[in-house]
Amino acid sequence: MTSLPEHYRALRVVKDDQGTRAEVQTLPLAALPAGDLLIAVSHSSLNYKDGLAVLGRPGVLRAYPMTPGIDLAGTVLEDRSGRWAPGTGVVVTGWGIGERQDGGYAELARVQPGWAVALPPGVGAQWAMSVGTAGFTAMLAVMALEEHGLTPGDGEVLVTGAAGGVGSVAVALLAAAGHTVTASTGRLEETPYLQALGAAQVIHREELPALTRPLEKERWAGVVDTVGGATLAGAYASTRTHGSVAVCGLAGGSELRATVFPLILRGVNLLGVDSVTCPVPRREAAWARLARDLPAPRLAEVTQVRPLSDVPALAPQILAGQVRGRTVVDVR
Ligand code: NDP
Repeated sequence: MTSLPEHYRALRVVKDDQGTRAEVQTLPLAALPAGDLLIAVSHSSLNYKDGLAVLGRPGVLRAYPMTPGIDLAGTVLEDRSGRWAPGTGVVVTGWGIGERQDGGYAELARVQPGWAVALPPGVGAQWAMSVGTAGFTAMLAVMALEEHGLTPGDGEVLVTGAAGGVGSVAVALLAAAGHTVTASTGRLEETPYLQALGAAQVIHREELPALTRPLEKERWAGVVDTVGGATLAGAYASTRTHGSVAVCGLAGGSELRATVFPLILRGVNLLGVDSVTCPVPRREAAWARLARDLPAPRLAEVTQVRPLSDVPALAPQILAGQVRGRTVVDVR
């Protein structure tokens, strides 16, 4: 049996009299949380939620000090349950890592064996983290739309917050599956980027029909919404008969002002997407399809790789909507 490392480096969010701050610390192995599966983490990623956590904003970290990072990928070092062989490449997203217990911004992580998914054949940890929770969520949203009948040729599929992490991958996946994608963004300067991902049309978010009536003119065959608030309300009221809206995020607001009319007069499906508690069989299906369908060159184009020490400076940028696509964190 190979000996385990005695120490590991982690980005910790600490809270004391001076407030909340993030700092890189070296910790003993015993500082890891409980869990049978010990992973040598090579990569994590930066999501909107991680930005909130790193800055100590309320609602994400349930205790301090804590290692944020809701995603991680790496190699199994030890599994006391016997389920995972040492050396297996795994990905863990959600389940409360980086929120309720230490997450991916560290060289080592301890989690429950049932939380991990084996990396699909032919892809590595950096690829998995360029997908991350954001890309995984986009995949779940596209699967939900398709399961509710969305078929290529049905018409325009709207992606809101399209230049963000979830949005970028949703555009790429939908386009790769043959759907006609309309990308809505507040950053029209990202039009070439969104077109390269496969968007047929790019519109400014202010061009989206505002909600003035319970039922707006029918336009969208499907919607992947990462923005929430008035954007979601408008998209939902403009969804075509028997179309579906996959609700992923709240980048623009958490309220939803709506009526039941799209549901009961047009049979619109309002679909929730929760990547954190997603059951394992669905996770495995999503990761397999991501490995198969997400064009690797496109994913590479939307990804930047940054060291762990850059994360505190990146956190306010992702909250300000200034981060394009996906950010992989190299924790080694
Ligand atoms: P990003 O910050 O990468 O993307 C969010 C995008 O939303 C921005 O790029 C911007 O897009 C748009 N946006 C930001 N602020 C506003 C605003 N005030 N009004 C309208 N649009 C805005 O974040 P992620 O892609 O990682 O996450 C997107 C959302 O999805 C977040 O709310 C996150 O919490 C949620 N999420 C939910 C998950 C789930 O399991 N349900 C999992 C992962 C994320 P543009 O520049 O194109 O305008």
